[in-house]
Amino acid sequence: MPSFPTKSGASNFAVRVFLSQISIEIGRFNKKTHFKEIITKFNNECAYCGSNNDLEVEHIIGINKHEVGLNIKSNVIPSCHDCNDNKQKKKLDWQRQLELVVTDKSEYHKRYNKILNHLSSKNASIDEHVVGEIKKIAEELYKEVSEAIDKKVKLIKLSLRP
Ligand SMILES: [Zn+2]
Repeated sequence: MPSFPTKSGASNFAVRVFLSQISIEIGRFNKKTHFKEIITKFNNECAYCGSNNDLEVEHIIGINKHEVGLNIKSNVIPSCHDCNDNKQKKKLDWQRQLELVVTDKSEYHKRYNKILNHLSSKNASIDEHVVGEIKKIAEELYKEVSEAIDKKVKLIKLSLRP
């Protein structure tokens, strides 16, 4: 990642804030009150590889404009640092990350179903058409932020002319 701020960085950040605000409307995930319960549900193990060290908060569906995941309980699972890091760095979806770390077929299906089940648990199954709507608006927001920056830069460019 570049060390200077970029337009795409600003647009991505705006989309993440937007998704985070929507999460508040639905019932935002709170690490202090919810994570312990989720970890217990997953037997104190990484939902992907089964390791039990250093469990971190992992969003199954990424909070970005491509995946439009939300910061809500049903989108959070425990993950070890390695799985979390690998999934994020390589921009993998959860199914792919699971495939990479679980070779045993029946174990794979067990974990796959457990994650899927958690993802569709009661307090957060959002209607598919709402998800489509969120995605559309997130894309608009991404574009708008980028265009707003361009516009403002253009204003200054004019003043800089000799
Ligand atoms: Zn893991």
